[in-house]
Amino acid sequence: MIVVGLTGGIGAGKSTVSSMLAERGAVIVDADRIARDLQAPGAPLLDEMAERFGGHIIDGDGALDRGAVAEIVFSDADALADLNAIVHPAMQSEIQSQIDAHRESDRVVVLDFPLLGENPREDLAATIVVDVPHDVAVERAVARGMEAGDVRNRIASQISREERRSRATHVVDNSGDLDDLREQVDAVWAELASIVDEQRS
Ligand code: ADP
Repeated sequence: MIVVGLTGGIGAGKSTVSSMLAERGAVIVDADRIARDLQAPGAPLLDEMAERFGGHIIDGDGALDRGAVAEIVFSDADALADLNAIVHPAMQSEIQSQIDAHRESDRVVVLDFPLLGENPREDLAATIVVDVPHDVAVERAVARGMEAGDVRNRIASQISREERRSRATHVVDNSGDLDDLREQVDAVWAELASIVDEQRS
């Protein structure tokens, strides 16, 4: 098994690349999905969050009111640190156990993690960064139903394109069409497969 990081700013095309890698045989460990599952109604993490931030962050159906949490942590660095202290260890542990399930295999395990740049890992055989100019990212995210202002705010709150790219072993430039993207994913996949082969021999 090798573990490969996959990241990119919002609207860059990370999910699209993730699906293409899955089609080619990668195991995807999806950090966003793990975060959602850990905060699903009834999850123990919600109790911890409610204890720290107040019962009003859980709505009548037992679901997390993300807006209410965002409002609290937006302007309060201590609250944000506390939120991270609750959520991060649980996420890291679930990510690790999903990776470990493939430890004895010869699979390519892709850790699909938007915040990989902010949370670097030592164990990655490669780091794929999907990159597009901001205007393209905004245009695609808007076409998918998001508000342009929201997308721009999210971009501004994340690490810069340059910083993200500087940590990449493979940069996928998604400013072209989907055929162009597929070609680049094929090239990256061939290199990943050869790392697995080397490791096996
Ligand atoms: P991310 O996961 O990085 O936020 P997505 O993979 O969801 O981004 O891509 C954002 C939107 O742009 C999606 O609707 C996706 O289908 C579309 N998209 C991705 N890559 C391309 C491309 N090369 N050409 C046209 N549309 C694309």
